[in-house]
Amino acid sequence: MQVFETVLSLQNYFKTEFNGKSIAFIPTMGALHQGHLSLIKRAKNENDIVVVSIFVNPTQFNNANDLKNYPRNLDKDLKLLERNNCDLVFTPSVSEIYPDENSKKSTYNFGKIVEVMEGKFRPGHFDGVANVVSRLFKIIKPDNAYFGQKDFQQYILIKTLADKYLSDLNIQVHRCPIIREEDGLAMSSRNVLLSPEQRKSAALISQTLFWAKDNYQKYTVDELKKQITNKINADKYLKIEYIEFVSDPELNEITNWGLEQKIVACIAVQVGDVRLIDNIYLS
Ligand code: AMP
Repeated sequence: MQVFETVLSLQNYFKTEFNGKSIAFIPTMGALHQGHLSLIKRAKNENDIVVVSIFVNPTQFNNANDLKNYPRNLDKDLKLLERNNCDLVFTPSVSEIYPDENSKKSTYNFGKIVEVMEGKFRPGHFDGVANVVSRLFKIIKPDNAYFGQKDFQQYILIKTLADKYLSDLNIQVHRCPIIREEDGLAMSSRNVLLSPEQRKSAALISQTLFWAKDNYQKYTVDELKKQITNKINADKYLKIEYIEFVSDPELNEITNWGLEQKIVACIAVQVGDVRLIDNIYLS
């Protein structure tokens, strides 16, 4: 496994080594877990070369404390990647990705995608995501890129970015299922920041979504939102930020059941200082 810190060294290596081979790319912010590894496994099955980036992208954090506290453990990550058949790791510095102030700005227009749910509650977040992923795509020029359904709205954003704005790069964007802990909690790098009590309570987030999947047709949309909100907020460590039902892939708000084929329930919950998201297909 090769590790590169600069764009130049990475691209020079590409020129000499990877002619004609299919390249998979998985962008991450590190603090790797089984969710990330599931993306790598799939990418390795479908491609010759797997490239993983580890970059805690400051421009996608709308909360300075979240950025400061974000877990970082590069040595552990590199060992894990080595053991999991990753071929190449890109660990750029902030100045490598953003050489000047102008390079931090994104000029895309994603309309509704950036206005609802995560877009609404984390202003600027998706601008940062689109900007960094577009930079990484242009540097690495993969054939395939893999993203998790865990960040459902992010996947929709990136798919739109690749198809609408970066179509000349011809990158196929793939989505991989959510990997969960035994009690159902969606794996997330931020989970390590939870206290033991908070961690126990956090399982209620996915358990409430599983309950919603089994019971949604018994309620109207508004009633179900209330039920879910009450269940989450009944726990002293949890505070719901939003629960929304949207269509996949349009992200249209669902106002009654039955018309849309694919309905996704998306939730964001504050657990102390840690903000967690999750989602589930209702139909
Ligand atoms: P992150 O390091 O949080 O930016 O995530 C990097 C990639 O891993 C994104 O495409 C995420 O959606 C994906 N990912 C994170 N957690 C999970 C999970 N529990 N299951 C599947 N994919 C995940």
